[in-house]
Amino acid sequence: MQQSPHTPSPPPGCPLRAHTKVIATIGPASEGCIGDLIEAGMSVARINFSHGTAEDHRRRVESIRSEARERMLAVGIMADIPGPKMRTGRFAGGQLNLEAGDEVRLRWGGGEAQAGEVLLNFDGFIEAVSPGDRIVLADGKLELVAEGVQGDAIVAGVRRGGIVRDRQGVHLPDSPIDYEVPTEEDRDLIQLALELEVDMLGISFVSCADDVRRVAELAPELVMVAKIERQAALENLDSILTVADGLMVARGDLGVELELEELPLVQKSLIQSALRAGKFTITATEMLESMISASRPTRAEVTDVANAVLDGTDAIMLSGETAVGEYPIDAVATMQRIASAVEISQRYHDLPRPSFRSAERNFANAAAMAAVQAAEALGIEKIICFTESGNTVRLLSRYRPNAKVIALSPHQNTVNQMTLLGHVRPMVFRREASLEEMLHMAAEMLVARGIARYGDEVVFVAGVPPGIARSTNVVKLHRIGEEVKLH
Ligand code: PGA
Ligand code: MN
Repeated sequence: MQQSPHTPSPPPGCPLRAHTKVIATIGPASEGCIGDLIEAGMSVARINFSHGTAEDHRRRVESIRSEARERMLAVGIMADIPGPKMRTGRFAGGQLNLEAGDEVRLRWGGGEAQAGEVLLNFDGFIEAVSPGDRIVLADGKLELVAEGVQGDAIVAGVRRGGIVRDRQGVHLPDSPIDYEVPTEEDRDLIQLALELEVDMLGISFVSCADDVRRVAELAPELVMVAKIERQAALENLDSILTVADGLMVARGDLGVELELEELPLVQKSLIQSALRAGKFTITATEMLESMISASRPTRAEVTDVANAVLDGTDAIMLSGETAVGEYPIDAVATMQRIASAVEISQRYHDLPRPSFRSAERNFANAAAMAAVQAAEALGIEKIICFTESGNTVRLLSRYRPNAKVIALSPHQNTVNQMTLLGHVRPMVFRREASLEEMLHMAAEMLVARGIARYGDEVVFVAGVPPGIARSTNVVKLHRIGEEVKLH
């Protein structure tokens, strides 16, 4: 009955999935197969609001909701807002080939660039860029060095050449540019996200806690995911963690802002800092990049995904692999398989557990820790938690239990918001009048759905009286099938 750390995990499609959640970006390649993505193990669908129209977003949200409903599975939706992403404008012929030693002029403007010129989509860089500063084009491929100002343009020399195309990402890692998050465009997109009733917001290019706070004020009901992709965000991480619900290790842009070789250790420390602050993490970008055009990943990618799981990330994310790739379903299934393979290992089992977070000295946090320790000591596989706001489930998931946390809430939106938390399986469950009834009904439901069997030992975490948020005060050890009598 007890699962040893080496028992193989259930095959895909079985009720219990990997502890680590898979997020897939929905795009042209995947909007027609959302049901298959869910079955392959997608827990959260991400819609990148940098691409596509409002109509595209609406259609995709509707399709995710209906495919999830049909399968009676919880799927969260994260809308990702673009923030102040700097991009090149248009080139004659769609691209420009620059060679080391060339000189170019960089100017703000729409339209098409003249010969020897690069247009940028943002104002204010002339004042910010000093001679010697790096100007990085095409998301890191090309590097220029500023030489000086000439009229309305910066003159720069090419240090690392290559081809730059229309609307590719631009970075100014050395220049103190002032960005406003959210941008005007973000504000419109946040309204759209609210209208579409998504569950989470990814906030791009945050620099400080106030950036997140301003977005949270516009969308107080949504889960705030601060995307860490700027040097400034690393410097302000502690304060960002006080306002965000979780972080995304946005390795794409972060890898341009930092030296590439810094990324692996930054990833590890971001995940640890978030865990210590009681927040979740998503590890994103290029995780299975080669699967955009191949049915199998590279060895290095498999190892990267496995290492992110060992770092303790809550979720691993697919971007181009599922948005525009040729093998979206295989990419999700591959992540699910890699995560499961790591999670049954002794090494994963033995990862250090976070200790009690004294910043949250309350009944819910103490109950969460007690439940995790009791499950650990007895080899119990399931912690069943009743939750109104999701708070106790968040606390449980921060202790990274080997047991699965079955999170039962009467609110569909709470259930959707919990889809991103590692170690958690959220489900909608009607509230009963008494705790006894609730425990009894929950046990019967889990048996009926094949998630638990009669005789299984479980830990219940609940609040009495039922139905009040932030009232968790009961940890009950229970054998399924035995009568629940609390007095
Ligand atoms: P993006 O964010 O895909 O929106 O750029 C993720 C990243 O930068 O890694
Ligand atoms: Mn990014």
